[in-house]
Amino acid sequence: MPEYSFAHVADPELKQDLRAGAVDDRAGLAKRLAQIAEFDCRRLYLPEYPSMYQFCMRELKYSEDAACRRIAAAKLARRYPALFVAIADGRHSLSTTLMLEPYLLPETAGELIESSSDKSKSELAHFLAGRFPRPDLPTIVQPVFVPAPTPEPASALVVASESASPELPAPARVGPIDRPISTPAVVPPSPRPRVAPLSPERYAIQVTVSKATHDKLRQAQALLSHVLPAGDVAEVLDRALDVLILQLEKRKFGATTRPGRPRDSKAPRHIPAHVKRAVRARDGDRCTFKDDQGRRCNERKFLEFDHIDPVARGGQATISGLRLRCRAHNQYEAERVYGREFMRQKRQAAAEARSQSASVRPRVSTTNGTSSRPTSGTAPTQNSTCSSVSSAAAPRLARLPTRIGPIAATRRPAL
Ligand SMILES: [Zn+2]
Repeated sequence: MPEYSFAHVADPELKQDLRAGAVDDRAGLAKRLAQIAEFDCRRLYLPEYPSMYQFCMRELKYSEDAACRRIAAAKLARRYPALFVAIADGRHSLSTTLMLEPYLLPETAGELIESSSDKSKSELAHFLAGRFPRPDLPTIVQPVFVPAPTPEPASALVVASESASPELPAPARVGPIDRPISTPAVVPPSPRPRVAPLSPERYAIQVTVSKATHDKLRQAQALLSHVLPAGDVAEVLDRALDVLILQLEKRKFGATTRPGRPRDSKAPRHIPAHVKRAVRARDGDRCTFKDDQGRRCNERKFLEFDHIDPVARGGQATISGLRLRCRAHNQYEAERVYGREFMRQKRQAAAEARSQSASVRPRVSTTNGTSSRPTSGTAPTQNSTCSSVSSAAAPRLARLPTRIGPIAATRRPAL
């Protein structure tokens, strides 16, 4: 299928064609929605199909989800035609269009569509939460039904659950109950976690966790019962995250409130903790890459320490010799210096070495009966120009002691 191979196309041409194609896609989507709206209004799906939904799936070959979303967006844009234009010129996507639905009114639609333009789904969620704040939702921890029996039944950890009805707030409760109390009778075994802003500074988090995680939550609540008698899940989560962040920042960036004396190392890739701290503070926890127009990369995840002069060419692990780069830009820079094929081989060799290392590492038992690999020997990924600060495995939360007597006696929080 040569028309689906672009291996022969030069980089600038491929870039230009892809951009032009995206423009065509947006214009095509707006036109398709307008056609769906008109087709639906005239009920032209009859008599072959009983509904527009069936027509979209069987005749137009849309998936169930695509059919629902397009029909909903088409109806909405028919009521507010400014949406067709906003979709066609890329100010709104299909997703952000649908997010606006509950908030559009004839007298304010034009202004809202305009002021909410050019936002990602996450940005629009924050924008709408600020403009239309909602009350906090009740805290619920409950078991969920799964379609098939599993060795370890899942539990739902819901902190201000979205699925709970804000009109009929259930009392905050924590603990297993006999029957589900949220709207859906059957919940998929692994639903996607949801984090949604409710109002400024307030967020709803919904996530399904294993029984082991649920038991840890209960244990943490018990250990914190002297300071949090109600076992407020949001407060327990906040304290647990404090501990986790402290551990991760120490591991990745050498963060500490009591810096020790710098230690010398002969390893050329070793980056002293005080250098990590200084580079991190200077670069502001963010990738430092800038494009041709001087726009700085926004990425704050997968950050790595990048040697400005590669180690193989004499680069030093000093504050002025290092910078923060996201993994994608670090690899881009490495490929620019060493060549794409060379870096591909290096990455492949590193992956194989990690795989071999993992296969010979002994498994250890944990207190909950499961087994896991020890994490203390997990070396950070390294390529030829950087020392990674993105550990492949996040550390587990500090395991709580099985004896709680001393903690209760001192009346101090366990976390
Ligand atoms: Zn970047």
